[in-house]
Amino acid sequence: MVEIKNLTKKYGNKLAVDNISFTIKKGEILGFLGPNGAGKSTTMNILTGYLSATSGEVTIDGHDILDDPVEAKKKIGYLPEHPPLYMDMTVREYLDFVYDLKNVKEDREEHIKKICETVKIVDMQNRLIANLSKGYKQRVGIAQAMVGNPEVLILDEPTVGLDPKQIIEIRSVIKKLGRSHTVILSSHILQEVNAICERVIIINGGKLVASDTPENLGKSISNENKFQLRVAGEERKILDVLENVGGIKYVKSLGRKEAGSIDFIVEAEPNVDVRPLIFNALAGAQLPMLSLQTMDLSLEDIFLEVTRVQGGTYFEDVDEDDIEFVETESNKKGEEQ
Ligand code: ADP
Ligand code: MG
Repeated sequence: MVEIKNLTKKYGNKLAVDNISFTIKKGEILGFLGPNGAGKSTTMNILTGYLSATSGEVTIDGHDILDDPVEAKKKIGYLPEHPPLYMDMTVREYLDFVYDLKNVKEDREEHIKKICETVKIVDMQNRLIANLSKGYKQRVGIAQAMVGNPEVLILDEPTVGLDPKQIIEIRSVIKKLGRSHTVILSSHILQEVNAICERVIIINGGKLVASDTPENLGKSISNENKFQLRVAGEERKILDVLENVGGIKYVKSLGRKEAGSIDFIVEAEPNVDVRPLIFNALAGAQLPMLSLQTMDLSLEDIFLEVTRVQGGTYFEDVDEDDIEFVETESNKKGEEQ
């Protein structure tokens, strides 16, 4: 439905988007994830024809955004980072204005009514946009994107600046839209794309660093061969035993978490199930293993991993207050490594 080929954008000398290619299938909800400054808004502005690329191609349902902009843009509804709302209009006046601007052919009353129902702003139609809460303004922004029934909705950080209740409501609106539209949604919040999207593309420093389902991203990076174990006994003795188990790449002590025992992280070679080997070796040395668990990577871990491996600058130009982390079991463990 949407095809992006070798997209590059320079602002002067600054490379904001660096040779990105990907496709979005019809009906898909795609998450475009990346830290602030990664190039998400730039990419979305190019996808929607608001900004021209330095090089590369974008086609929407076969229509090139540059050669055939009228047809391509008809297929797209866009919620930019800063929605162009007119504060002195009522919601209804504004939607009428957008309807005229887009030269929509459908029955006006019916069409606008349906959109207002979907984003739940029916009762707000006569209110001035200036007087709406941020959550309702965002709904109006989504509503204007839906005017003209575009097949593809491109939403740039649709939940930014909303309170938790509004975030949940907007997410459920987006999920609902996903049933009848192709949706591309950008976010710097990991749990957001995890909650809404079927596929995730991660960009960092203008480069595409990962593209997969949230589940597969987890599998490809974790290899399911990293474990955390708790063993009763002395640290040195346990390390001696673990270091001599075949198939183990490294062992790291996490120190005491429970009286009389030490926690360790063990990484095994790929395709070796070291668990029985660890069990037998420890039992042979009379060091009881109290627990052993696989360390599944959360999307947070994956995000940090792919942005780090690619020489990323995750924290460099990011205001830490802008990063929203959920403390998961696995990133708690990660911090202790
Ligand atoms: P994101 O939406 O992922 O936060 P942007 O696409 O807004 O990222 O920005 C990508 C990079 O391009 C950033 O380093 C940003 O500072 C830079 N940039 C964005 N817009 C402009 C512009 N109009 N002029 C110069 N640099 C820009
Ligand atoms: Mg942005």
